Amino acid sequence: MTKQRLVILGGGESGIGTALLGNAKGYEVFVSDNQKIKEKYKQVLIHNEIEWEDEKHSENKILNANIVMKSPGIPDNVPLVKQIRKQGITVVSEIEFASKFTKACIVGITGSNGKTTTATLTHHILKQELNVGLAGNIGDSFAKQVLEDDFENYVLEISSFQLDDIVDFKPEIAIITNITPDHLDRYNHQFKNYVASKFRIAMNQTKSDYLIYDADDKVITNYLMNHPVQSTLLPFSLRRTIENGAYLDNDKIKITIDNNQIIMPTTNLTLEGKHNIKNAMAASTVAHLLKIRKQTIRESLENFQGVEHRLEHVLKINKVQYINDSKATNVNATYFALESMDAPTVWIVGGVDKGNNYEELFQFVNEKVKAIICLGVDNEKLINTFGRMVDVIIETQFVSEAVKIAYKLAEAGDNVLLSPACASFDLFENYEDRGRQFKNAVRNL
Ligand code: ADP
Repeated sequence: MTKQRLVILGGGESGIGTALLGNAKGYEVFVSDNQKIKEKYKQVLIHNEIEWEDEKHSENKILNANIVMKSPGIPDNVPLVKQIRKQGITVVSEIEFASKFTKACIVGITGSNGKTTTATLTHHILKQELNVGLAGNIGDSFAKQVLEDDFENYVLEISSFQLDDIVDFKPEIAIITNITPDHLDRYNHQFKNYVASKFRIAMNQTKSDYLIYDADDKVITNYLMNHPVQSTLLPFSLRRTIENGAYLDNDKIKITIDNNQIIMPTTNLTLEGKHNIKNAMAASTVAHLLKIRKQTIRESLENFQGVEHRLEHVLKINKVQYINDSKATNVNATYFALESMDAPTVWIVGGVDKGNNYEELFQFVNEKVKAIICLGVDNEKLINTFGRMVDVIIETQFVSEAVKIAYKLAEAGDNVLLSPACASFDLFENYEDRGRQFKNAVRNL
């Protein structure tokens, strides 16, 4: 029998993982990337005798494929992808391809904010009692884990780009954390397209599968009203009682599934902020569904250390708390960061504006922010928006300077918060680089 030809567009983490898996499963694999493939990935391809090219796309080879795996970073509207589709070649994402080769129970987590935190926390709870992998946009690719580890359960962080190219992929348990505008450039600048993309996580689910979602999020509830899904719904809410699902009752999380209720105090949660209570509700609902003991869930919530760059407490200097929330690359994430501030705050904000509307932050800025430091190449919009709201607003293009200014402005009991509400590409490699530089600058004070 002739081998099926698998072409992989994009030689990054998901591309290399898919190449290894495809190779092991008997496909004839060809990896093509129009940019330079990282040396460590090239070595893996060479070692496994997988054919590859970089800094070009050889169309004759690519269009000869039976199946194409497209990396999430490649938009749909590039001419090559259009041509592949026009020829009727199946285009899939990595999670679609890899899921064909595992019978594991899959927990799939998507949403605009909170995916990494919720996925990491869910994994942290489940791993106490189950054999479970954490993959998707985190760490090693799902494909590589399916090949090398073959876990019985997976927690997957799934972006909308991965969901755009699924066909049969179905998580037994899906979570949609929330939906606010993001990445609209990839969705024809139509919010409704982005929302529909997120809901693809439930498109193959049936009654025996679960969809856990934020019942306080109007975008989600409106969508569900107009586009019912087959899944069994398990909403969570901070605001109202939920009979089947999770809700907050004073300082207790109550989760009920088929009349079986567990109750957990929020007072000992290590994570701060209302958004993290939501993340904890979603993660604990998964754990309850998978029959993790209540005591284990409670202890895991209490000893979870959080994820780097997400409201990460860096240091306390002269009774001033420095907080790194560099991953807040949109307004909604910063909204929850400011909401969780319990003291006057010097706020470091700015970067590449993605068409931000800052109105939802006004109340918190008025109530909590004593000074703003704009850290970006172009700070005009921030100054125009917030200039009259605070006494002090200062611009800089250097993290170390931003931190030194914050040090001078903050008094005992205050917070210094880096929560940019913007992408980082004007001054930094990525949000991790921004967060690390911030932490270094704080440590050097
Ligand atoms: P994602 O993986 O979806 O980008 P992260 O967990 O990395 O989400 O968090 C991104 C940013 O959003 C951080 O600033 C974090 O503090 C904030 N955040 C985390 N959970 C939520 C949530 N449920 N709602 C809104 N913002 C959140």
